[in-house]
Amino acid sequence: MCSTGGPIDVELDEGLKGKKYRCNDCGAVFEAVGRHPVCPSCQSENVTEV
Ligand SMILES: [Zn+2]
Repeated sequence: MCSTGGPIDVELDEGLKGKKYRCNDCGAVFEAVGRHPVCPSCQSENVTEV
């Protein structure tokens, strides 16, 4: 018996999904990817995930 390894389940669904954030300075709601989202309207980093 050669070992071929079994099927590997890899879930990549979450990889490129953006999260929604709301800017605490100007109130804009936007989607961003990454750990340091920045408001596209006022460039503030003072945002909260929603
Ligand atoms: Zn803003």
